[in-house]
Amino acid sequence: HELRLDQPGLLRTRCLIDGQWVDADHSKTFSVTDPATGRALADVPAMGAAETMRAIAAAEHAWTGWRGKTAKERAAVLRRWYELILSHTEDLARILTAEQGKPLTEARNEIGYAAGFVEWFAEEAGRAYGETIPSPVPDKRLLVIRQPIGVCAAITPWNFPAAMITRKIAPALAAGCTVVVKPAEQTPLTALALADLAVQAGFPPGVINVVTGDPEAIGGELTSNPLIRKLSFTGSTEVGRLLMAQCAATVKKISLELGGNAPFIVFEDADLDAAVEGALLSKYRNTGQTCVCTNRFLIQDSIYDAFAERLAAKVRRLEVGNGLDEGVVQGPLIDEQALAKVERHIADALDRGARVLAGGGRHPLGGRFFQPTVLVDVTPEMLCTREETFGPVAPLLRFGSEEEALAIANATEYGLAAYFYTRDLARAFRVGEALEYGMVGINTGMLSYDVAPFGGVKQSGIGREGSHHGMDEYLELKYLCLGGM
Ligand code: ADP
Repeated sequence: HELRLDQPGLLRTRCLIDGQWVDADHSKTFSVTDPATGRALADVPAMGAAETMRAIAAAEHAWTGWRGKTAKERAAVLRRWYELILSHTEDLARILTAEQGKPLTEARNEIGYAAGFVEWFAEEAGRAYGETIPSPVPDKRLLVIRQPIGVCAAITPWNFPAAMITRKIAPALAAGCTVVVKPAEQTPLTALALADLAVQAGFPPGVINVVTGDPEAIGGELTSNPLIRKLSFTGSTEVGRLLMAQCAATVKKISLELGGNAPFIVFEDADLDAAVEGALLSKYRNTGQTCVCTNRFLIQDSIYDAFAERLAAKVRRLEVGNGLDEGVVQGPLIDEQALAKVERHIADALDRGARVLAGGGRHPLGGRFFQPTVLVDVTPEMLCTREETFGPVAPLLRFGSEEEALAIANATEYGLAAYFYTRDLARAFRVGEALEYGMVGINTGMLSYDVAPFGGVKQSGIGREGSHHGMDEYLELKYLCLGGM
């Protein structure tokens, strides 16, 4: 399980500030470990506020030149970056699996997904159209133009070490903004490899800066520095709330992609086999560690037992192991804390009367591996249906009517993704419209694409990423009123 790369130079262990690969002040570092083996992979700079301030100054300095380029020129650099990411898919996927744990096939898919945002926003760069407004008075002309916001900060999580970065910075760069990125401390190596390819693609110094290190110190500077005009964050609701409060002092624009509590509703008129396949995809992808992963299944009474049996039979056969090994579909969890949360949720459910149908505990492989689990006789007061478990546990609740299913599904402060299965067209529209979520999968367990708007309502976040709406987050409207015509 050694990390072997075709181009070892992609394994960058210094940060990128103003086009230079640099160490932290006093050469402070921290280790990145492989969650599958617990082994140290590399040491990267442990930066803080001072280095972050320098990165912000570099981005501010680079902004004038970058926004002054034509959209076509910016698109050409993005396009080169896209092609470099694709042509280095294998190395990037290996780095990603080594530091994050997901199976290599999923890592390759993520690199494709990440590259997709770069391609999409390269194309969108030239479409930041403005408008003209019919004037209410004869001697004036009213125009609206859209301009880049300025220096943007991106704080990203470990569960998608590549895609969460490109989903934020590709639209920013396309719009003419410059960026300072702080990747998650668990997965900085993918971010630094992407930055290496960005340098090769020809982004001018300071346009993209990556700082690794202390989340609180770096986050503190990114949220308080007045030069930062916009913060885009993906992570926990708890940290999102904190960053939102910190941004208030300088009235920054913010985009937040926070936690979810995705329901997956199966109505009795559903295609049961299709529902089981969708359930596997939406629950066990990335070992249950995505913010759109199903957190609770709501199954109609008459098909509850059949669905549970079929799902459990498939779940028992999911291959758990090191993501670098052929055939593995379930990697390790990210850290010991993640395992402890999963255990706590299962213990609480069993205490309150749930039963284990598959898995239920740590995997015989030890380390950070957990058995893919199915729980039945689950009720809405159990912790696993109220908090985001972020692990390979499928709790199955029972419901009678459509109204009851909707009431349970919407009874949460979250509103990111929801899924349901039905073959009734009227119900598909009715339920699709009634679910208080930003994204709804109907007869599918997989809905994330670069071309579609990703985001949540309620306490799951603010703003949308991907799609042509993703550009709006990095553009300001400016109204020009021409008089004396
Ligand atoms: P998770 O539970 O998925 O690790 P977090 O919200 O803790 O989610 O982490 C998401 C990102 O937020 C990571 O890059 C992490 O380093 C960063 N982060 C965590 N705490 C803070 C903080 N106080 N200020 C700024 N960034 C933070």
